[in-house]
Order: sequence, then C-alpha cells, then structure tokens
Amino acid sequence: MSVNFKDFCGYLAEIYQDLQLNKSGKVASYIPELKKVNPEQFAISVCTTDGQQFSVGDYKARFCMQSMVKPVLYALALEENGLSHVHKHVGREPSGKNFNELTLNDEGLPHNPMINAGAIMSCSMIKRKANPASKFNHIMKALHELSNSQKITFNNAVYNSEKDTADRNYALGYFMREHHAFPKNTDLHQTLNLYFQACSIELNTEVLSVIAAGFANAGSCPLTRREVFKPETTKNCLSLMYSCGMYDYSGEWAFSIGLPAKSGVSGGIYVVVPDRMGIAIYSPRLDKHGNSLRAIEVCKRLVEKYNLHNYDSILRCPNKINLFP
Ligand code: GLU
Repeated sequence: MSVNFKDFCGYLAEIYQDLQLNKSGKVASYIPELKKVNPEQFAISVCTTDGQQFSVGDYKARFCMQSMVKPVLYALALEENGLSHVHKHVGREPSGKNFNELTLNDEGLPHNPMINAGAIMSCSMIKRKANPASKFNHIMKALHELSNSQKITFNNAVYNSEKDTADRNYALGYFMREHHAFPKNTDLHQTLNLYFQACSIELNTEVLSVIAAGFANAGSCPLTRREVFKPETTKNCLSLMYSCGMYDYSGEWAFSIGLPAKSGVSGGIYVVVPDRMGIAIYSPRLDKHGNSLRAIEVCKRLVEKYNLHNYDSILRCPNKINLFP
C-alpha cells in the first residue's frame, strides 16, 4: 500500500494536534536569547524533491540554526577543499561525547564535523583568502540558493550572546591550535567569529524543509533545480548526519529512525529522506541530549507508520505504508 502526498500531510497534521499536549522538556538556557523563546511554539514543514510543500503550526516562527548549520559548513568546506584535504583536519567518527566536549581524537583532530570542534574546523576552511564579510555572505548565499528563499536572516542579539558566552568554544579553538589541527595560517578569532555568526542565522521550518529537501535532492534546490552542492558532497554530508547528527542520541537515532538528520539547541530538527523529501520540525523544549522532544516524537510516529527507515525495505513490512512514488 502507498500513500499520496495529501494523505501524508493529513497524518502530519494529526501528529501535530496530538503532540501539542506534550509539554515535557526544557528550553535551552545556555544563552539568554534562547531562554526567552516561547516554549509553546510548534511547527512541522515538509518539502518533496519535486517541490510539493506543506506546513502546519507556527511555520513562520523564526529560530536560529545553531548546530543545524553544521552540515552546510561541512559541505562548503568540502566543495572548496576536497574530501582528502578536509579530512586531514577533521575525523568522521562519532565522538561518543557531548557536542562541546573538550576532546580530540587520537590524531589530535576533532572527531567529526557535526560537533562544535569539527564545525569550527569547517569554518577555518571556508573562503580562506576572503575577508570576514565575504565568508559570511558565502554561507548565506548557499542557504538562499538551496532554499530559494530570502527569508533567511541574521540574529544579532543571538550572535552577541553566543560570542559573550563562548568560553568553551574559545577553549576548543585554542586546544585545536595547540595540537596544530588547523590548516596553516588559520586566523583563530576570525574562524570562531564565523562559527558564532553561522549559529546565529535565522529561518523558519518552511524554509528549513526546502533546505532539507535540497539535501534529499543530491544538493540541488527542489524548487529551482539549481545545483548548490555536488551529489558527492551531499552524500558525504548525509553519511555524517546519519552517524553523528543528533548529539549523544545519534546511535539510537540511526538505529530506530534510520534517516540522516541534524538538530540544534534552538529546538529545530531537519530530517532527510533521500530522493524523497525533507522534513523540518521546530519546538523549543529539549530532552536531556539537547534534541527537541516533540520533534523526536514526530519522527518516531512517522517511522512507525511509513516505510522510511533506511532498512525498512528489507523487511517488506506488510503493516507499513510506502511513501508516494
Ligand atoms: N552555538 C552553540 C554552541 O556552539 C551550538 C549549540 C547547538 O545547537 O548544538 O555551543
């Protein structure tokens, strides 16, 4: 049995209604700006690789990307420097540690690009010769092109908050510099600054679902068909999102949900169903790992009902529904 897009959206709307009652979890509080958000906000958006879109809830509510920008930083570093150069400076193993843990792998490199140290490393490899403004514009341009939207902005208050409470990220930067992990002639302060700026980029689920669908669509925007990242780059990003994208819940997520995804402490998650669609969910109350509680619940319910898990296909599950062709 398979579902059409309209019925799939109907089910998303049902899940949305059900989960509004779920008030568990706590809003991130490590910076004052995140503590201030309305915890009741909840939105789900979906965009298919052929450009069909649906949203329910507070899908115009803006939130900052935080760690959700990490796959984009990694993709930009790959496009510019190539796989082998990038991985001379960052590993690709799950760290088994907290996202901001002061730790490096046996070679003195960050474990992977989906944790803070690795994302700071990606920033050191973006437009190395350009000035700070061009580096930031380069990230924004990729996001604008992937989403075909200009509704992606920069939250200066979040940026200032990030910068003022960044002892751990500074410590990670110095720790990596001490271990000669960065490419030669890296300007540490410029690199950290770019990382804080990237975390402070704001969007809503409607736009984020198109970005996720761009990843599902081999790096091309599903609305314009324009290629932003090469398919090879996109594949590498998805592989690391699959193994390392959900903080310390990544192993459990890969096991039970079986899809590449990235979450951020602002309460957003985007999930990529390769060749099919991108799903973006926002709800600021987090679980103990830093993942949005309602968003995880949405994904569990989707995977219960539809053939979405990477390995569902081998089960030929009679009680699960196939997605629209
Ligand atoms: N800006 C945050 C930090 O560097 C990222 C938090 C996150 O979403 O994981 O600590």
